[in-house]
Amino acid sequence: NAPIEQIDPEIAQVIENELNRQRGTLEMIASENFVPRAVMEAQGSVLTNKYAEGYPGRRYYGGCEFVDVAETLAQQRAQAVFGGDHVNVQPHSGAQANAAVLHALAKPGDTILGLELAHGGHLSHGMRINFSGRFYNAKAYGVDPQTFRIDMDRVREIALAEHPSVIIAGWSAYPRIVDFEAFRQIADEVGARLWVDMAHFAGLVAAGLHPNPVPVADVVSTTVHKTLGGPRSGTIFSKQEFAKKIDSAVFPGQQGGPLMHVVAAKAVAFKLAATEEFKARQRRTLEGARIIAERLTAPDAKANGIDVLTGGTDVHLVLADLRTSQLDGQQAEDILHEVGITVNRNAVPFDPRPPRVTSGLRIGTPALATRGFGAEEFTEVADIIAQALKPQPDVPALQARVRRLADDFPLYPGLEQW
Ligand code: PLP
Repeated sequence: NAPIEQIDPEIAQVIENELNRQRGTLEMIASENFVPRAVMEAQGSVLTNKYAEGYPGRRYYGGCEFVDVAETLAQQRAQAVFGGDHVNVQPHSGAQANAAVLHALAKPGDTILGLELAHGGHLSHGMRINFSGRFYNAKAYGVDPQTFRIDMDRVREIALAEHPSVIIAGWSAYPRIVDFEAFRQIADEVGARLWVDMAHFAGLVAAGLHPNPVPVADVVSTTVHKTLGGPRSGTIFSKQEFAKKIDSAVFPGQQGGPLMHVVAAKAVAFKLAATEEFKARQRRTLEGARIIAERLTAPDAKANGIDVLTGGTDVHLVLADLRTSQLDGQQAEDILHEVGITVNRNAVPFDPRPPRVTSGLRIGTPALATRGFGAEEFTEVADIIAQALKPQPDVPALQARVRRLADDFPLYPGLEQW
């Protein structure tokens, strides 16, 4: 029972270094967040020792009386926040949740229709070398080349031509609210199932700041660790008609034993998602993204070739458009890293630069909102980003401004180590 510093000092050092990195920099990767201490406690608990194949009350292992309580609480709390006839809280990750969804809704070889990866879709929505592109006949819809928004008339045309069994709405890099009702109508017209992947914006949905796809779609998958701010994992909501299929697609279709420590941590996260504090944080998340979009569409940013795709955002992220900038996505990511702001470069639709370089940045506000940032701090961050992306930025001055923000909003205050 020796502590990790004694058993494995190298890994203990990695954890300490990572904690210091998270504390000392500004995290703006749109899919990341900081989990509350209570979530980490559940995840780092003895529940990791327990096998619990099956579902509460129907396990294939003895000794599940306590983990059954954890899973039932996770289910009840998830449904209290999002609704839905049925929920499965066992997927280990978003990608595994999505594999289970396709397993439940389609047969290998069936046609599926999702948002083009290069236009903001996810790997698991039909990318060529992902399981979804290898086992299914994956077709894609894209964004309009002028507006950079999804054109629902075009989605309908493609759906009528391709006869998909599953239509996928949801994204990894798209700054606008998607019209779930329009997707529903198209799915009904062509006889397809509608699957929404709300991984990115689930926290906004939970706070009532984004339309909820759960009452509209046949199946909704999500990750729990992005805007929702819970443990790294997935969850699936479904209409009653698909409940059994989803459950058997997750176990035994996709997975063996559920990660009960993570299921318990999901219960904690769903409990927190129902609080006023969580809602206020999601409001600050949205406000921060709007402030950054405004700053990066200001005339001086435009003069440097910086712009924002679709001219703004409805969600927790901004897609900076660098197509006419001297900086490519890689260079912009690197300069922000040097300043102390972590973002990821991202291809923009119809990107003229190669995929490893790209012409875009995906900038997200969930982690900084969790850290406590409000309008004033996001205005300062937006200004630092805009200045860093100018020619010959004053890097030491910008580093000092980042450090001041990081110091003013300490991460996990009082904790020596994790
Ligand atoms: N779905 C969407 C829309 C995502 O953006 C992501 C992750 O980025 C996933 C699914 C996959 O989640 P995970 O990384 O947990 O497999």
